[in-house]
Amino acid sequence: MSKFYPVAVPAFLGNEKKYVNNCIDSSWISSNGEYINLFESAFAEFNDIKYALTCCNGTVALHLALMAMGVQTGDEVIVPSFTYIATANAVRYCGAKPVFADCLSDTWNLDPADFERKITPRTKCVIPVHLYGNPCDMRSIADIARKHNILILEDAAESHGAAYDGKKVGTLSDIGVFSFFGNKIITTGEGGMIVTDNDNYADLMKRLKGQGMDPNRRYWFNMIGYNYRMTNIEAAIGLAQLENIDEHIQKRRNVAEIYIHELEQYQDYITFQKTTRNAENVWWMFSLLLNKPFKLSRDELMLRLHEDNIETRPLFYPMHVMPPYEDKTAQCPVSEDIASRGVNLPTHGMLSKDDIKYICRKLIKYIK
Ligand SMILES: *Cc1c(COP(=O)(O)O)cnc(C)c1O
Repeated sequence: MSKFYPVAVPAFLGNEKKYVNNCIDSSWISSNGEYINLFESAFAEFNDIKYALTCCNGTVALHLALMAMGVQTGDEVIVPSFTYIATANAVRYCGAKPVFADCLSDTWNLDPADFERKITPRTKCVIPVHLYGNPCDMRSIADIARKHNILILEDAAESHGAAYDGKKVGTLSDIGVFSFFGNKIITTGEGGMIVTDNDNYADLMKRLKGQGMDPNRRYWFNMIGYNYRMTNIEAAIGLAQLENIDEHIQKRRNVAEIYIHELEQYQDYITFQKTTRNAENVWWMFSLLLNKPFKLSRDELMLRLHEDNIETRPLFYPMHVMPPYEDKTAQCPVSEDIASRGVNLPTHGMLSKDDIKYICRKLIKYIK
């Protein structure tokens, strides 16, 4: 059988097995253990920020951050319509209402002008999402948020190590969150991390993720909390992944560079996601939009590539068209357009130059 090309494959380049075995040999397999502390402090250092808190996935990280910010029933939170559904769901978990803003047609990230348009007296927070590894225009977003007294929570679930104005994403606002799902830039299987410089937020999120236990009195609970903890085994994998994060990112950048080199002459037919000004993209997913003259529809292309053993994914459906969040008045035409004609191509560190050339050769066959 010929080779299959999945969209995403995790890469284990270092101490993953060794550290996991240490957990089992030492019997520290649950949510206490040295790897939790080591992973948190290494992640804080990598991002040059005071606090990094592990939790059991990226969705939970968003929920903890919103709770720490005091988001509750009656509040509105502005969320890009063009994102993964977890961003909107976490807002709902707090009883608040996600209000969808459109994205920009070049970077596919939150449109600052539409964010400002959708502010009401009930807007408490905005969640810019650094989509597919590409940082948002944080300067414009922060200016507007400051002017209207709105908190910023960065959803950096797809963009570990990406930077804007020389600072790592996730650290450009009040709180930032990351995911370590199996297909992300680095992985722990399932897992999440929250970063902040704010003492009060960090303290509250630590309590909330551990059932609300009083840090100074064991088994005394003074609030309703959650069990949102990461295990030591997951942290062991995370620490090993983080030790090689520069290499993980460099491999993705090489993949994107080769795709661009192979495909740039076809820009009448396809459009690439543009990296934001002053930003360093980590290319979680390399993606294309199919333009009018492209011979096949997006869905036909995906089927054909599948027959060539190449997996692709449609870009995210806009939030405001799906049943839980359907809103015919949302007005996010750019999100609808991009979602309808975009695909993610295989993007991960295990792809060789020949693999990418094969994928491009097949794709080019269907262009005209
Ligand atoms: C993956 C992802 C999440 C959620 O992370 P999980 O670890 O899967 O819960 C949130 N937001 C975005 C943009 C994501 O891509």
